[in-house]
Amino acid sequence: MTESKACMEMAEQNLLHTYNRYPIVLEKGEGVYLYDTDGKKYLDFAAGIAVQSLGYGNRELNEAIKEQVDLLMHSSNLFYNVPIARAARRAVAASGMERVFFTNSGTEAIEGALKAARKYAFQKDGRRDHEIIAMEHSFHGRSLGALSVTGNAHYREPFEPLLPGIRFAVFNDLASVEALVNEKTCAILMETVQGEGGIYPAEPEFIRGVQAVCEKNDILLILDEIQCGMGRCGELFAWQYYGVKPDIMTCAKAIGCGVPAGAFFLNEKVASRSLVPGDHGTTYGGNPLVGAAVDKVFEIFEREKIPAHAKEMGAYLAEKLEGLAEEFPCITARRGMGLMQGLVLTVPVGEVVNRARDNGLLVITAGSDVLRLVPPLIIEKAHVDEMIEKLSRALRQVL
Ligand SMILES: *Cc1c(COP(=O)(O)O)cnc(C)c1O
Repeated sequence: MTESKACMEMAEQNLLHTYNRYPIVLEKGEGVYLYDTDGKKYLDFAAGIAVQSLGYGNRELNEAIKEQVDLLMHSSNLFYNVPIARAARRAVAASGMERVFFTNSGTEAIEGALKAARKYAFQKDGRRDHEIIAMEHSFHGRSLGALSVTGNAHYREPFEPLLPGIRFAVFNDLASVEALVNEKTCAILMETVQGEGGIYPAEPEFIRGVQAVCEKNDILLILDEIQCGMGRCGELFAWQYYGVKPDIMTCAKAIGCGVPAGAFFLNEKVASRSLVPGDHGTTYGGNPLVGAAVDKVFEIFEREKIPAHAKEMGAYLAEKLEGLAEEFPCITARRGMGLMQGLVLTVPVGEVVNRARDNGLLVITAGSDVLRLVPPLIIEKAHVDEMIEKLSRALRQVL
C-alpha cells in the first residue's frame, strides 16, 4: 500500500468523520506551492482556508517560532510574557482599535465578542434579555454561541436550542436591519465580506448605514474580519476600505499564518465598560509561542506592505477572472475584494475543484455554487496566470 493510502485509511479509522476530505495527503509547502506524499506539486489558491497568507516556509516567521519553542512555549495568562505584550502592541497600533484579547481560534474570538457586547449592554441598563442582530448566510464558527449567530439554519437546527435573542437580517438590506432594531438590541454582527456564505462584500451604503443605526441607538457594531481581514481584501482590515470602524472586531485565520490564533479587538468605549477580571479567560490563548508568531506576522505585513500587494494582485486576479467569465458561460458572476474572490458556477463546483486538483491547483468552495479563491497574499502575477491556465483546463474537463 502506498504511504498516502495508508495515511488516509489510518485517519478514517480513527478521526471522527466530520469532514469529507479530498483524497490527497499534504506533506510540505514552499512559497505558494504544496506537495503531497506522492511528490505531486500543487499551486495553492486555498491557503489552508485563507490562513497561510505569507505562504509556506517563510524563513523569518519560522525562525521566530523555532526560537520561541526553545525559549518558552506556554506560561498561562497568570503571568506576563514578552512575545504577547509585543504582539498586542503591534496589533493595537496596526488596527487602530484600543484593546485586544487573544484566543485560539476564530470561533473563540466570536464568543469573546458576544460576551463583551452583552456585558457592555448589561452594565448600561441591567437587562438580561438583550438581542443581537446577525445576518443571513453568515458564518461565525461552530461552537454553540458562534453557531447561534451563524445564518445557516441547516448548521443550526440539529443543535437547538441555541442562544436566545438572535435575529437574522438580510445582508446588504439596510431596511431589514432597521426593522429588527428595538430597545433590547445590543449589537449588530456581520462579516465585512461574507466568506463561507459565498463571497459577498458589504455594499458601502449598507455597512455605513448599519454603522449609523448603531451610533444612533448605542448599539455595538461587531465586524467579523476572521477571513476578510489581515490584508486579504487590500487593506489590513476590510472595514478600512469602507471608512467605517467597528466597536468590536474579530480576527483569526491569517493572524498566526499557521499557528492557531485568534483575537477580538475592542475600542476603549467597550473595553472600559465590559469584561473585567473574572469575566473571561483562556488557558492557551495568547501564549508565548503564539505571541512570537503573531508579533512576527504583523511585523512582516507592515514591512513588506502585504495589504498593498494583495490589493495590486487582487486587481490583476479580478481582471483575469473577468476574462475567464467571458470565455466560459458556466461562470455567471465574479464577486470579491482583493485576494478574496469567488466565481459563481452553473456546473457542479465540486467537480471543478476535483479536476483543478488533478491539474495541480488547489481551490475550495463557498456556499453551494461558488468557487473560492483565497491564495497566499504573496502571490505574483505569474501565479495568477498559472492558476487561470489550470482552472481553464479544469472547466473544459467538466463541461
Ligand atoms: C473561519 C471563520 C470563523 C471560524 O474560525 P475558526 O478559526 O475556524 O474557529 C469565523 N468567522 C469567519 C468569517 C470565518 O471565516
